[in-house]
Order: sequence, then C-alpha cells, then structure tokens
Amino acid sequence: MMIVMKEGATAEQIDSVVERVKSVGAKAHVSKGELVTVIGAIGDREHVANLGLEGYPGVDHLVPILKPYKLASAQYKRGERTVVEIDGRKLGGNYFATIAGPCTVESREVMLETARVVRDSGAQMLRGGAYKPRTSPYSFQGLGDAGLPLLAEAKEETGLPVVTELMDVRDLEPVLEVADVIQVGARNMQNYTLLTELGRAGRPVLLKRGLSSTIEELLMSAEYVLKEGNENVILCERGIRTFEPSYRFTLDLMAVPVLRELSHLPVVIDPSHATGRRDWVLPMSLAAAAAGADGIIVEIHPEPEQAICDGPQALRTDGFAEYVRQLEAAAQLAGKEFAQV
Ligand code: PEP
Ligand code: MN
Repeated sequence: MMIVMKEGATAEQIDSVVERVKSVGAKAHVSKGELVTVIGAIGDREHVANLGLEGYPGVDHLVPILKPYKLASAQYKRGERTVVEIDGRKLGGNYFATIAGPCTVESREVMLETARVVRDSGAQMLRGGAYKPRTSPYSFQGLGDAGLPLLAEAKEETGLPVVTELMDVRDLEPVLEVADVIQVGARNMQNYTLLTELGRAGRPVLLKRGLSSTIEELLMSAEYVLKEGNENVILCERGIRTFEPSYRFTLDLMAVPVLRELSHLPVVIDPSHATGRRDWVLPMSLAAAAAGADGIIVEIHPEPEQAICDGPQALRTDGFAEYVRQLEAAAQLAGKEFAQV
C-alpha cells in the first residue's frame, strides 16, 4: 500500500503514519519527492489492510500496489526513475554508463592495462570478477581474495569505480573494501540470503537475471535487496535459455522497455555473456542502447586469445574507444547523456 501524504504534510504527521504502519507489523519505506512524501507500507497483506489511515492527519490518499513486487514497481516511485550515482558517474534515468573489463581478474598486468583503456575510452566503470561462478568445478574459479588488491590498484590508478561479483556472503567484508557496485551473477539471482545481506550492506547492487528466470522473478529478487533499505539496484539482462541453439543465450532485449515500464530501477545489458562471440557484441550493444538501456556491461581483454576465461566473447582493448563512441551515439538516439568525471 502506498500512503500519499498531502503537500506540506509535517514531519510529525509523517512520523505518526510511520508509527502506525509499524504498529501493525508492516515496514514503512519513506520516499520524499519534490512536492509530496509517499510512504510505502510493506508487509503482510492483512496487516496492511488493517491500517485504517484514511482521514489521518496529513494523509491525502492511499493507493494499493497490485504487483507482487512493491518497492521495485514503477508505481512506488510514481514515474520518477532511480539514478544510481557512483563517485560522480550516473546510471539510470537519462544517464547511460558503460562498464567494461576482463571476465576475471587474472593478473596485475592485464587488470591495469585494461583499466587504463577503459578510462581512456571514456567508459564509466571497470568490471572484473575475483570470484567466478563456473559451470565446471574443474575450471579456473577466479583468484578469489588475491584478486581484490589488483582491482583496488586499478581503481586507485584510474579513479574508475569497480564492479565485482560476490558469490558467498562469507566474502562480503573484503569485497566491500574494493567494490563500488557488487554484482550478483545470474546463477545467484535467487540466492535470497545473499540478496538480503546485500540489502543490508547498502552498497549498489548489479543484479543479473537468471538463465531461466522471468522478468517478474528478477523484480522479486530486486525486492529482497530494496526491502532491506538499499535503494541502489541495477537490473541486468544477460541472455536467457530458449529453444534456439544457434547462439549461447537469447538476449532478451524486450526486457529493456518492459522493465523500464514495470520498474523505476535502471536496466543494463550484458551483450558478452548473451552472445558468447566477439563479433555479435557490437550489434547487440547498439540495439540495447538504442532501445533505451541505461548501460552496458561488456568484457574486454588486451589479448583475448590468452584470456583465462570467456576470451571468445571479449572485445579487444584495441579498438574499444571506437566501440564506446558508437555505443554512446546509439544511446543518444534514445535521449541519454553521460556523466563524465
Ligand atoms: C560475469 O559477468 O562474469 C558472469 C559470470 O556473468 P553471468 O552471471 O551473467 O553468467
Ligand atoms: Mn565472463
């Protein structure tokens, strides 16, 4: 239920509504807009139904949220879009951001060389996984803890915010030391204990859609993070399983306009994991940007042939600046701008 306060409602009136919401066992999420404050009363349907707030001092009207996800719904923000701001870079609303880097943090040289290219090309953030979710337990699992200082060094040198994956809550503390955005991989999209911890940690989260998850399931997962008070969730479409065997995954670009309609949260596209092939990355990136995506997360490598993982899909660092130029032109078609630092 959304409780829309009157314009000019006082702090005491807002507090008293919050207290009333809590007294029936529901949670109150206060969202202060330019003119009015809206309080989301989230909890058991029965509790919320018994609020009896009509006519309460300062309350204008009540609006039920009909979707199963509440805080993630577009309705909750009443048309306003969430802009995730990370160290001056912005993603969401009218802002488009490019996130690039190797699949995995594999060595100091590769990490630093790639980070310099990302910075010099005008992209906004650096990616790289220290902990890798691999299909085979016999594949390289990432450098783990040893990879984090390499990300920290790349961040220190280039000033780029870092996006890195967390797979296990036991690694949360060291990851918080370096990550500006914590990635939840497709395989962990429904790891609800992990999502809850990330909601509590408060750091922005990039939440990837599961290989076989629906859009509604993705939004329900985002809700787990939002519910804990962390408002900075970035949704990511990275390809889903379909009957089509000609390519690795089907990049569901319909998810861009649909998610932007259903939710206020930013939507980024990962063309690398969807296609699995370098030469398909550019066309799908341009299509995503032109469709209104709020950003791209893409894998790049100085020598893809030597990459420890996902080399065939990595763009070469050589030529990456031109990729960013084309991508930004496509994003501009969709009315986007770029926050440069
Ligand atoms: C990744 O971004 O490196 C990754 C493993 O992605 P996904 O979880 O989408 O497979
Ligand atoms: Mn990868």
